[in-house]
Amino acid sequence: MKRAHRPVVGKSAPCRGKRRYHSQGDALEAAMLAGVERRRRAYVCPWCGLWHLTTIRDG
Ligand SMILES: [Zn+2]
Repeated sequence: MKRAHRPVVGKSAPCRGKRRYHSQGDALEAAMLAGVERRRRAYVCPWCGLWHLTTIRDG
């Protein structure tokens, strides 16, 4: 098995499996590329300090 070079974030961070972005712009750009920017919101994660996208629920 090959080890990937990943930044070490808190081992017990609940966001471990989530995609991280270095800035709000990065997060929103990724959402835009996926065509889902209207249904996603970027937020700073309190655990890893980076950005994640969350789904906006309407209704
Ligand atoms: Zn996080």
